[in-house]
Amino acid sequence: MAETFLNYIDGKWVPAASEETFLDINPARPGEVVGEFQRSGADDVDAAVGAATRAHEEWRKTPAPLRGEVVARATRLLTERKPELAETITREMGKVLVDSGYDVQGAITSGEYMSGEGRRMFGDTVPSGLPNRLAMSIREPVGVVGIVTPWNLPMLMPAWKLFPALVCGNTVVVKPAEDTPMTAVRFFEILEEAGIPPGVANLVTGYGPEAGHPLVTHPDVDMVSFTGSRAVGRQIAISAGEDLKHVSLEMGGKNALVVLDDADVSEAVTGALWGGFSTAGQRCTASSRLVVDHKVADDVVAGLVEGIERLVVGDPLDTETNLGPLINRKQLDRVHSYTEVGQEEGAQLVVGGEKLEEGFDGGYFYSPTLFDHASPNMRIAQEEIFGPTITVIRVDGYDEAIEVANGTRYGLSAAVYTRDTGRALRAVRDLEAGLVYLNAPTIGSEIHLPFGGVKDTGNGHRESGTAAIDQFTELKTVFLDYSGTLQRAHIDEPID
Ligand code: NAD
Repeated sequence: MAETFLNYIDGKWVPAASEETFLDINPARPGEVVGEFQRSGADDVDAAVGAATRAHEEWRKTPAPLRGEVVARATRLLTERKPELAETITREMGKVLVDSGYDVQGAITSGEYMSGEGRRMFGDTVPSGLPNRLAMSIREPVGVVGIVTPWNLPMLMPAWKLFPALVCGNTVVVKPAEDTPMTAVRFFEILEEAGIPPGVANLVTGYGPEAGHPLVTHPDVDMVSFTGSRAVGRQIAISAGEDLKHVSLEMGGKNALVVLDDADVSEAVTGALWGGFSTAGQRCTASSRLVVDHKVADDVVAGLVEGIERLVVGDPLDTETNLGPLINRKQLDRVHSYTEVGQEEGAQLVVGGEKLEEGFDGGYFYSPTLFDHASPNMRIAQEEIFGPTITVIRVDGYDEAIEVANGTRYGLSAAVYTRDTGRALRAVRDLEAGLVYLNAPTIGSEIHLPFGGVKDTGNGHRESGTAAIDQFTELKTVFLDYSGTLQRAHIDEPID
């Protein structure tokens, strides 16, 4: 019998109003149930938003350093439990332990950074143009924030949103991905233990259309913070636009790793293998497109083939394993359908392209896959596959490389391998991406810098660093006049 886990609303663990549940399974061994979770609907979301709305008044007036203390306590608990949390992530999501450790560490680092923001959260203090007057801006919370997260970073993603939102004085309702509710429940157990007041942070598990949709359209939700696919993000943007809600969207990527003719080929290959196949390619920043100068393309492809042959696919709890399973059957079928698309389109399938069945316990394993000689407009070169598939596009020189790298609707992350400083700096200038890496693959951001994408990857916001504080606060401009008389801006300013 699987253990049943509840929603967390108003400081209590409660079942869904419908009393319906769903199962969370281990993608490496689909026969193994990780847990049974609440299949929430509009009533549960309403209860959670109601709790967040009631809690907001007191939380917004709680001094920010004290709000930061709650985040700091949660961070200490995350740190103490990192190994067991990483194992939970691996069991429900299938990525290897080193990737799950990264996921937990991302949450820890976010907590460390954001708890300190409780003592900063800077506004501006500027000289007034009028005498005897102070002029400044201060930060205030936006209100109730609805947070909707994907399954590929089940700890880091909620933390990246929740920690800054809470420190800034917002109250939140989190709807985690239906494939990874266990990590979210563990996270909320930690928040409870850290002393989060009732109603300040609420959790409703369930499916997107049933629980996510009522959350992002709820009239009392002031802001939506979403990370996930472009299709869902677009729908959220449309409905948020109707209601004039604040909305921050982080969506997909088709990230190019460019290898120029003067690159250190061996380094580029090592980077591409890590960027393309870590988390079995299920990363928004995965190096899924390799844009390679034809002068070095044969060497790059040969190096990749050699590297792929060394990759171990298997039990993600085994520390020798490099690639675990994909998240679910649907994603396995989808990734395989792209292999068929690539072949139909005329790209050359070099290695992989197979569902791995024999000896894999019915898990959703896919072989690391390499396509060569793809043309830039093929679907496998344009659409986010979100699996262990790397597509090589051969180009002639810097200009074509940049044109191809920029030639998708997405703009999350891009990398360039070159030894030429001038070309490297030109690439930093020319690549259309929110993150650019030089001589490193497209994955792996740091908490104190902004994270997010341009073009269809985002809507202009950034997570992480002080950009997160900008997202989760409203600026209030304040004038304090101690002149004892009426002073009129732009009229009485002593400028001749
Ligand atoms: P998804 O869009 O299917 O789901 C994301 C979340 O939205 C889930 O919690 C889901 O239940 C919810 N949802 C689904 N339909 C909804 C609806 N109608 N209304 C409200 N919520 C709804 O994405 P996914 O498959 O979980 O994640 C993979 C995607 O996430 C990829 O495109 C990946 O690139 C992207 N991603 C982006 C970043 C980034 O920072 N840019 C980071 C991680 C993942």
